[in-house]
Amino acid sequence: MSQPITRQDFDALMMPVYAPAAFIPVRGQGATLWDQQGKDYIDFAGGIAVNALGHAHPALRQALEQQAAKFWHTGNGYTNEPVLRLARQLVMATFADKVFFCNSGAEANEAALKVARKYAHDHFGPEKSGIVAFKNAFHGRTLFTVTAGGQPSYSQDFAPLPPDIHHAIFNDLNSAAALIDDNTCAVIVEPVQGEGGGLPADGEFLKGLRELCDKHHAALIFDEVQTGVGRTGELYAYMHYDVVPDLLSTAKALGGGFPMGALLAKESFADVMVPGTHGTTYGGNPLAGAVGHRVLELINSREVLDGVKQRHHWLVGRLHEINQRYGLFSEIRGLGLLIGGELRDEYQGKAKQILSLAAEEGAMVLIAGPSVIRFAPSLIITETELEHGLRRFERACERFLGEGLS
Ligand SMILES: *Cc1c(COP(=O)(O)O)cnc(C)c1O
Repeated sequence: MSQPITRQDFDALMMPVYAPAAFIPVRGQGATLWDQQGKDYIDFAGGIAVNALGHAHPALRQALEQQAAKFWHTGNGYTNEPVLRLARQLVMATFADKVFFCNSGAEANEAALKVARKYAHDHFGPEKSGIVAFKNAFHGRTLFTVTAGGQPSYSQDFAPLPPDIHHAIFNDLNSAAALIDDNTCAVIVEPVQGEGGGLPADGEFLKGLRELCDKHHAALIFDEVQTGVGRTGELYAYMHYDVVPDLLSTAKALGGGFPMGALLAKESFADVMVPGTHGTTYGGNPLAGAVGHRVLELINSREVLDGVKQRHHWLVGRLHEINQRYGLFSEIRGLGLLIGGELRDEYQGKAKQILSLAAEEGAMVLIAGPSVIRFAPSLIITETELEHGLRRFERACERFLGEGLS
């Protein structure tokens, strides 16, 4: 008989880059998960903004199982129908003319930065290599993307870092203007900083970046890895702002839990990438293509997108109520179902403690840094699940105030 698997096995066997919860989920349905002991949890974490259609959605299961019975992989010496169907959908639904598929958000951003560099080098020369990014941004964990990210604690241990990447202050156009010049090849920005705390960009800020990029012939890259695929109540967040990027990275919810990423590009940028310039073994494989196609079909409907806005009001409304009672948050903000609650000064650094108490009460939430509680649930979470989960979260807040201050 094989030994049972326990949480202790994580500490014994896994490289300790994570500190996962004390319980192990074994099954999910909609926005509910069950652990090994059969205890249920309402899932406001959504696999970090990935499970946009909840767990074990029947239509996604069907798409995966149908493709799994046909073939899984050929490599990019051959194309396949599912991925071409998905590419057509993405091109029809967005500004993009061309798509590159990969397996994660970091890879999509890596591709975006490489395309921007090559475009600039091909058209203007090798000195046009500067990348402007923002403090507190998150773009992934490859060396290039982690350096573009604006959290030195994530990159400094891996020096020497790729050069010519500069960080301005998010939502401060003057600080960006001071760094953008004719040697800038790209500006990369999240329309809502996800890991940075669910912080939406100001419309004027993004419009200003678009103008600066036009003036200096730099690519404007929107990192929509977290905000994409309906999360904000539009298919992509750029649609809220009426600012069109040149390149857009998307991942997380695109596969609804199946690993996949994509870079969306305008023709002129896509054109500099010819056979041999970039690639990946698994990118655009038929399993991911089949699932992604179904995800997009389901989410890119008025019903689901308007439902996100409706759920935003439910969730934010309830959080304000809870806050009136317990006064934990100094601000509740966000767009669609990407919502951050910033802890008041006296509770700074305590987000993880609240997360753990919430899990004990049967509600899964996220944090974004040490002082923000983040919610990124399924876009189709039911009102009952939401109510239920927030009642549990409220109990966790109550306990936090009882225990946390003692
Ligand atoms: C999660 C995230 C990434 C990285 O995606 P991975 O799939 O973990 O590589 C990049 N950018 C943003 C905005 C993200 O939220």
